[in-house]
Amino acid sequence: MPKPAFWKNNKRYYDLKSYWRNLYGCNVHKLPIDAGFTCPNRDGSIAYGGCIYCDGRGSKLRQKGELPTVAEQIQNGKKFYKPHASKFIAYFQTFTNTYAPVEKLQTLYDEALAEENVIGLSIGTRPDCVGPDVIDLLNNYAKKYHVWLELGLQSIHDKTLQLINRGHNFQRFLDAVNVCAGGNLNICVHIIIGLPGESDKDVLQTASSIAALPINGIKIHSLLALEGTALGEMYKNESIKLITKEKYLSLVADVLELLPPEMVIQRLTADGYRDIFLAPDWAMNKLDVLNAINKELERRDSYQGKHYR
Ligand code: SF4
Repeated sequence: MPKPAFWKNNKRYYDLKSYWRNLYGCNVHKLPIDAGFTCPNRDGSIAYGGCIYCDGRGSKLRQKGELPTVAEQIQNGKKFYKPHASKFIAYFQTFTNTYAPVEKLQTLYDEALAEENVIGLSIGTRPDCVGPDVIDLLNNYAKKYHVWLELGLQSIHDKTLQLINRGHNFQRFLDAVNVCAGGNLNICVHIIIGLPGESDKDVLQTASSIAALPINGIKIHSLLALEGTALGEMYKNESIKLITKEKYLSLVADVLELLPPEMVIQRLTADGYRDIFLAPDWAMNKLDVLNAINKELERRDSYQGKHYR
């Protein structure tokens, strides 16, 4: 199979920019929003302390004090992008963005969609926080707007999910995907490469399982050790080794080869965290990592979907 013509990019995978250009013929930017949510995996509803890699601070806006409204955050975000973009997605990013009564969710999402040139929503959440009322709400939005539901998974292996204190198992993720499938929602899954105790085979099993599900997009990054997290402590007391750049590049390329060519690759590196970043050093140079991934695929004469069945 040759590289699909619809990618329309110089990459060896179907990146988000190409996806937006295919759909709308212009740049579309995701504007990150901190709407003040918490997370049941931090507040004791499911567990305390959260996932071992989560620093629990929330967005930079939250650290500065009282949060601006959703509308204000969108207006500020738009200023940064003009005049390059003409359309925007309101990306509810911080913590668990469906963890509130559905009436409150509707008020916040409506506020975002009322802003000029906001064409849709991207809602980051956990697989155990998408009950039928939330799915109904999002499906209704999806009749008129472009809507992504971003589900954190990280690994299909329950032993790993337990070790990183995710507070849910793989079946819970499958249930969430099944409930959403067949509607108008686009589903994006988040996975991490380099999780403690995972072999290469474990990572490839995660990729193959995702490839077989009705999932439209994926975000991938390497495990990062941050100051103030349980993982950061494990790194400092040398009870864990983080993935090397060479291994990450090789595994990302393997994963991309297994995914369907039409699955949108929304992210291949981690963002932010500079002030509390501990390791691995190489992961902070995002551009270098992205170039190196493309080079690794070139070296193999390979591309996303090459081994997709
Ligand atoms: S689910 Fe997300 S917000 Fe909640 S503890 Fe884990 S990483 Fe942090």
